[in-house]
Amino acid sequence: MRYDVVVVGSGPAGSVTARFAAERGAKVLIVERRSEVGVPVLCAEGISKKVDSYNLVEGTKWKAASMAGARIFSPDRTMVRLSAELAGAETGYVLNREFFDKELARGALKAGAKLLVNTLATGLITDGGRIKGVRIKRFGEEFDVEADIVVGADGVESRVGKWAGINTTLKPHDLETCAQYTLSNVDFEEGYSDFYLGKQIAPGGYVWVFPKGKDVANVGIGVLASLSKPGEAKRLLDEFIASHPDLKDGEPLRFLAGAVPVAKPIEATRDNLVLVGDAARQVDPITGGGLMASIEAGKVAGETIGKAVELQRFDKELLSEYEERLRQTLYRKFERNYVVKETMLGFDDKTLNMLADSLKDYNFEELSTLSLIKALVSKHPSLLPKLKPLLKAR
Ligand SMILES: Cc1cc2nc3c(=O)[nH]c(=O)nc-3n(C[C@H](O)[C@H](O)[C@H](O)COP(=O)(O)OP(=O)(O)OC[C@H]3O[C@@H](n4cnc5c(N)ncnc54)[C@H](O)[C@@H]3O)c2cc1C
Repeated sequence: MRYDVVVVGSGPAGSVTARFAAERGAKVLIVERRSEVGVPVLCAEGISKKVDSYNLVEGTKWKAASMAGARIFSPDRTMVRLSAELAGAETGYVLNREFFDKELARGALKAGAKLLVNTLATGLITDGGRIKGVRIKRFGEEFDVEADIVVGADGVESRVGKWAGINTTLKPHDLETCAQYTLSNVDFEEGYSDFYLGKQIAPGGYVWVFPKGKDVANVGIGVLASLSKPGEAKRLLDEFIASHPDLKDGEPLRFLAGAVPVAKPIEATRDNLVLVGDAARQVDPITGGGLMASIEAGKVAGETIGKAVELQRFDKELLSEYEERLRQTLYRKFERNYVVKETMLGFDDKTLNMLADSLKDYNFEELSTLSLIKALVSKHPSLLPKLKPLLKAR
């Protein structure tokens, strides 16, 4: 088998990269170890409405619910309400991700890419150190797929980057462990995604309630691996649900456990190699949301790969144009948000309560970092020293 490009993984990052590369004439193969694209779902399924502007999905089946905004609760349950536009990359729609991922994959196939499910990439094939494809295992048989470019879109547990010698290690400080139920028989304010903060509730993370429609919601938790013991995510989530009047009678339709990187993006290109999505740690370090980032980065990666195939240049210098473009946009936001994450980790529950108290009546229409900090400090001047790193990062 020989292709211009082989993409490992049919998640959002892989499918979008494949689509944009194929649209530019590249011959693309996607290999996916699962037997069905998008299944099982390992996600809270929140995404910004910015996804509409990419025009990558058709129909409405991929959308479970539309959100007007987010409600953020401090440990003493003071509530700050944000519009969907201001609430970040996880608020806008709640997805039916199994359909969403399939729609993205369908878009790639329509553009001319091929997809093999039930196909595990087991290693890179190289020639004198040069990457020249991947080894795959399919129904018990092993094959080589030759390609000029290998794309590692293989998610948080990515092996492709490691095989190419990239340091993909995630420190516990940069990893959220997550647990989630999809609960029926729960109550919520329709049109709002809820986030609950607090060191006792979710150390280094948060609890989310994302409504999927009628009386069903994804109720989950992420906790920083460095601040929690194995199994603690589920225990804390169970405690939270049992103590919440709107959730305690919920009945689970689904349970999942997973992990999200909350690191800074890593080196994403080498000669003949590109990493994208969670594999490149392209995730918002504050929220752990990676869907929108996978789409934004996948588009730029696919366009750059298309150009590389046109020019028949597969060197790092050309491929890293992809990272250069992201440095002007996505990576700038991630750098800033990494500082916010680090700053917030220093906040105790009392500080979070003061922050929420300052912001509960703030007019977010006039949002700027400076006006926000002014609002915070005018009510609680003792917050100023704690917020200084944010002023530097803005
Ligand atoms: C509990 C939880 C909740 C989340 N909630 C949200 C949310 O609400 N909003 C949001 O924006 N983000 C959320 N995320 C993060 C989001 O799911 C990821 O950022 C997103 O899926 C990244 O897309 P991706 O394509 O990079 O990776 P993935 O979607 O993980 O896709 C990787 C694909 O590669 C395949 N693969 C891996 N290894 C191989 C191999 N060797 N050979 C072949 N195939 C392989 C996998 O089977 C998989 O299909 C959440 C994550 C978790 C765990």
